[in-house]
This record gives sequence, structure tokens and C-alpha cells, in this order.
Amino acid sequence: MDRILLCLAHMSGREMDFVKEAFDDNWVVPLGPNVNGFEEDLREFVISEESAAGAADLSYQRLCPSLKDEKVVALSAGTAAVHLGLLSCGVGLGDEVIVQTFTFCASSHPVTYLGATPVFVDSERDTWNMDPQLLEEAIKDRIKVTGRKPKAIVPVYLYGMPARIDEIMEIAARYDIPVVEDAAEGMGSRFDGRVCGTFGRYGVLSFNGNKMITTSGGGALICPDEEAYREVMFYATQARESYPYYQHEKIGYNYRMSNICAGIGRGQMTVLAEHIAHHKHVQELYCELLADVKGIEMHVNPSPRFDSNFWLCTATLDEELKIKGQDEVYGEVVTGSVGGAAGVTHTAASAHTDVEPNTNVEALRVWLDKAGIESRPLWKPMHLQPVYKANPSYVNGVSEALFRVGICLPSGPWVTDEHVRYIVSQIKAAIEA
Ligand SMILES: *Cc1c(COP(=O)(O)O)cnc(C)c1O
Repeated sequence: MDRILLCLAHMSGREMDFVKEAFDDNWVVPLGPNVNGFEEDLREFVISEESAAGAADLSYQRLCPSLKDEKVVALSAGTAAVHLGLLSCGVGLGDEVIVQTFTFCASSHPVTYLGATPVFVDSERDTWNMDPQLLEEAIKDRIKVTGRKPKAIVPVYLYGMPARIDEIMEIAARYDIPVVEDAAEGMGSRFDGRVCGTFGRYGVLSFNGNKMITTSGGGALICPDEEAYREVMFYATQARESYPYYQHEKIGYNYRMSNICAGIGRGQMTVLAEHIAHHKHVQELYCELLADVKGIEMHVNPSPRFDSNFWLCTATLDEELKIKGQDEVYGEVVTGSVGGAAGVTHTAASAHTDVEPNTNVEALRVWLDKAGIESRPLWKPMHLQPVYKANPSYVNGVSEALFRVGICLPSGPWVTDEHVRYIVSQIKAAIEA
């Protein structure tokens, strides 16, 4: 059996047709028919409504943009989409932005690109996403301490799980602070039947190689209306004024998606629904096969209002659970880093940091690795990252506790039922009787 990876890109077979068309028509540039076509496909997908969960009170949706006005800009990366979403909310030098601490660094780093400060807010247990109560405490306290409101709020749909976006929207509206939803991992997840990324003023999508669909690398920003769409496009294309020569009155960015990447994206859109269904199926199978395994719990939708795409399937391990080899882990410095072959990583100074996954989690990762299965700890919360040690944070211990006990398991189009059975059999084999 080939190595089983967490989430690997999977082509529909249509991608090359769109890419070839771009070459044939000489549209090998960061604009063109594929970019327009991809944006149109994305728009159609994100504004599609499903019947909302029966008993839910949807009155909070009056605080969200109207779906029919929403537009999507295709960009070079999800990180670029976070950056431009924040910029469009007016975030600038000296401002503060509230960011979910339990996330990948691309949710918070763009805040610093703008000379602003991320203020981290912890998660609640059910969704692993931004705790609405703590969010409100943080807003009140920042106003008290700095005399100013945070400029934006960035909740995240971690591993695809919808946040409590209804409550977050109510709080954001009470203080009149815009929301930028980081739905990079939550493409096609829904809350009350509405697609994640369409609730806040802006919504971020990512098409990196390991996300729900890929353009090799890319992202998109869901905008509330035509005007916002045009403004984001202006900043994504070097902020040029309309003169016969290059006239610049604002600082812009080179963030537009290329027509080649968008061609891949158009091909991928034909299998998006299939991918999402497959991720959900893999999740179901893990739940079924792990149901009788004591000490391991899958992370599941807390109620029918939540409809995760299960981008990655995640589980938590009881501290008491004994995994073979757990007394020997963290013995040596790891070379390379998580996240595959991309880029250069610095060599670690020591085998330990002050907060790390429990030894049984690391032992399970090592066990699975030897069995040809990729797994990974959960994201290490941003408030625990050395680079953010001076940032204000509002924590309740939830994300730190989850980081210690959680693990990501393979999901995605390449993972077959047979693979899931094999992975679960290896998990069982790793458990000390
Ligand atoms: C992947 C990811 C991003 C960034 O997307 P890129 O396309 O890789 O730049 C942002 N936020 C989260 C939570 C992500 O997982």
C-alpha cells in the first residue's frame, strides 16, 4: 500500500482542458477567462442555500450580507485573502484585530503585515472555534485598556467545523466591528444551511495543495457586494489609478490569481461536491470503527445546525490511554517540519518546547508513521507561539488542552474505506493492552 497522506490533491481530469485553453488563447497572465469563470463558479457555489436546520432562529442573518449581492475575488493565496479582507476593513498601523488563537498562522500573520496587533481569543469545547463569550470579554477589555475598539474579528472554521457564527455576528454587530471569516479549511461547510464564509463582511477561502480543492496554490475573498469586490480587486492589482501612465495614490499588492491556476480551479469545481461528500463519508467511517475504542474520541458536529466538511478528521486521546512506545518519544530532535516538503525549516534547537502534545499522541503519530500513515498534531495555538509572546490574549485553556490531546487523521479523496479500516486497525494495534 502507498503511504496514506492527510489530504492530497485530487484532479477531476478536466483541469488540463482549461489550462490548455489558456495556452492556446495566450492567456498566460494573472487575469483572463479562467479567472472570471472560476470566480463565477465560486460565487454560484457559496451563495447556494440549503434548507436551514428546522428549529434554528435565523434572525441573526439580518446582520450578514445579502447572498445575492456577494461576489468572489480569486487571489494568489488564502493568506493574501486574509490580508486584503483586513485591509478592506480599514485595519492599519497601531490597530488591534481579534483572532481565534487556535488556528494556522495564516489567520494572524497578515494582521502584522498591516502593522496591527493580533489579540488572541480562545475556543469553546464543542466546535474548537472562537468562544463567543470570551470574544465579548476581550472586546470590552480592549476598549477599557486601549480606549479603542478592535478593528476586526477573525473567527476560523478549524478543520472545517463551523464556528458559533450566529453568536459571533450578534456580538460583532453590538460593537459594530466587521467580521472576516477564515473559511480556508471550511470550504463548503455550512451553518444553518448557509455556506461558511458568507456570514461576515469578508470570507476567506484557500486552494492550497492540501485544501478541499486546489489550484496548486491560491485563494479567494468572498466580498459583500460589487463595491467591496471592486475595491479588493483594486488592491490586488497594485492599486493603479486610471491614467494613461502608472499613477499610484495607495499601496497595492500583486495578489491576483493567474489564469493558469484558475484553469485548474475550474476543473476542481466539477468535483468539489464529490470531495466534500467523500470527506464526510470518511469521517462517518472513522466514527463507526472507533466507536468501541475506549480513550479515543472523534471530533463531531455538535448539533444539526453544524455541517462540517471534515476537511481533516480529528480525534482526541485520553491522557490515560497508553500507546506503545510513549515513554521513548521526544527523544531526539526532529528534522524537517510538519506540512510536507514545502520550503525550508530552521533546525530545532531542542526536542522539546514548553507546550507540546502528550507523549501518547506523539507515540501514536510515530506508530502510524511507521505503518505508512501520515498524521499530525492539531495546530499549536498562536498565543503559545514565541513570535506572539507579547500579544494580548484571552484564554480559557481549551485550545491548549486540545493541542495536547488531539491528532489529525487522513481524509480526502484518496483515502478509501480500506485505508480507513487499516488506519483504525493500526490505531488499535498501537494501544497498550
Ligand atoms: C490554509 C490556511 C490559510 C491560508 O491559505 P493559503 O492558501 O495556504 O495561503 C489561512 N487560514 C487557515 C486556517 C488555513 O488553514
